[in-house]
Amino acid sequence: MADGNRETTLSPDDAFALLGNETRIGILRALGEADGPLSFSALHDRSDVRDSGQFNYHLEKLVGHFVRKDDDGYTLRRTGRRVVEAVLSGAVTETPSLERTPVDEHCEYCGAPIEVTWQHGSVRMYCTECAGTYGRAYDEGRGVPAGEGYLGRLPLPPAGVRNRTPEEVLRAAWTWGNLEIFAMASGICPRCSATVETSVRVCEDHDASDGLCETCESVYAVAANVTCTNCIFVSGGGAVIALVANTDLLTFVTEHGLNPVAPESIRVLNGVHGDYDEEILQRDPLRARFTFHVDDDSLALTVDENLDVVEVDR
Ligand SMILES: [Zn+2]
Ligand SMILES: [Zn+2]
Ligand SMILES: [Zn+2]
Repeated sequence: MADGNRETTLSPDDAFALLGNETRIGILRALGEADGPLSFSALHDRSDVRDSGQFNYHLEKLVGHFVRKDDDGYTLRRTGRRVVEAVLSGAVTETPSLERTPVDEHCEYCGAPIEVTWQHGSVRMYCTECAGTYGRAYDEGRGVPAGEGYLGRLPLPPAGVRNRTPEEVLRAAWTWGNLEIFAMASGICPRCSATVETSVRVCEDHDASDGLCETCESVYAVAANVTCTNCIFVSGGGAVIALVANTDLLTFVTEHGLNPVAPESIRVLNGVHGDYDEEILQRDPLRARFTFHVDDDSLALTVDENLDVVEVDR
């Protein structure tokens, strides 16, 4: 018997099995939207299931792990709240549409206007003039044809597309993604909050004189890969993804009037974070210097093999 006053531990399989039912998801949603505890009859009124025995059967399945039951009635536990948050973010169920639309933002490479679209959980950005960042890399059968000006994508749950103009969607996606990078750079998994491991890879045969290196398919030889020690989250990019939360870099950016979290212009901040100079000073153990630029000012961060900053020059 489930005890309404004690939170139980369930395996993920059992938890998903319990939730694979519309009536139960409806109960969690009703509790999530309520201002306080709901009585059995108040909850039943909000359900499509008329038979109270059948309704009670589903409700009792949730009591313990997802729902707390006490003298005041039924309320959501933290686990139940997380389920409702996931359902309402639309990540699982909804597919909004945003056709490719020009926005008031410019390509960080050539300055031409860019277009955005929302597809498969991400805002995708395209330059209307140049080949974009990944033009060549994505030519090799990775989904996006060359010459489409693909500039990359920013994850955004479907709920982020609602009630926003395409410009606002782009900014929301940028801030949402940026917060994720700040979490990673601070050693925190943005999905589950566990510790992350950052591995550093240095391209052995780097030549980006044509824009992208053919060996590592990147502009930069030093790449960071972030893996969660608990969930399946993985991410990667240039060394900057490990450096964005560095105090000297934050100071440098804010002193130039740029908001590093929610910038006015994505292009200007991307120009700082995405267009830095890289010098490999020593390969083993790694010593590399990354120089960031805003206007005529620059900041150089020298890092060790763990991408920890060992020297700052301004
Ligand atoms: Zn362009
Ligand atoms: Zn390379
Ligand atoms: Zn995680």
